[in-house]
Amino acid sequence: RPRIGVLALQGDVREHLAALEVTGAEAVAVRRETELAEVDGIVIPGGESTTMSHLLTVFDLFDPLRERLTAGLPAYGSCAGMIMLATTILDTRPDARHLDALDITVRRNAFGRQVESFETDLEFAGVTDAPGEAPMRAVFIRAPWVESIAPDVEVLARVPDGPAEGRIVAVRQGSVLATSFHPEVTGDRRVHRYFVDMVRTVGASSDG
Ligand code: GLN
Repeated sequence: RPRIGVLALQGDVREHLAALEVTGAEAVAVRRETELAEVDGIVIPGGESTTMSHLLTVFDLFDPLRERLTAGLPAYGSCAGMIMLATTILDTRPDARHLDALDITVRRNAFGRQVESFETDLEFAGVTDAPGEAPMRAVFIRAPWVESIAPDVEVLARVPDGPAEGRIVAVRQGSVLATSFHPEVTGDRRVHRYFVDMVRTVGASSDG
């Protein structure tokens, strides 16, 4: 079974570890380079992206993580994790660093401040469009949205209605997945399953 790391410097680490275990993956917390070296995929949790950026540098993980991502390590970023993976960030601090692994522009805190955190049901391409699948409950907490994407980035979900109708909130580019929302706080494990399947596919093709 694939071994999937959860970057464990800050944020909702335990929820992701538990969600991954439910899918049948082996889930491990990653705080150091030796732990990073042993995983087949990495989850970057929600939290606060400028703090996470700082901690990645303090823990000497920034460059090793970026190198593994460049080499094709599958990654899933949720909320702050989406921000960390992106190539371009709007409304961030000038000293915040990011990993440049996903060719999108994200706007931080795009939906407004904490009071504007909200939940909605949405369609998730490749998941909720299968026969018998229900829409997905998405929880947004001071979330970013995806403002623009490179041509080879696939849109997986958009906000279905309301003031932010049509905004992109889930994307995939090759082996990198990101959502603005937090599937780890609901009981729905379909996004984690989707990611674990991505890791299995990449692993199968690279093991030859
Ligand atoms: N607003 C946070 C940031 O900018 C992200 C919030 C979250 O991860 N729930 O990093």
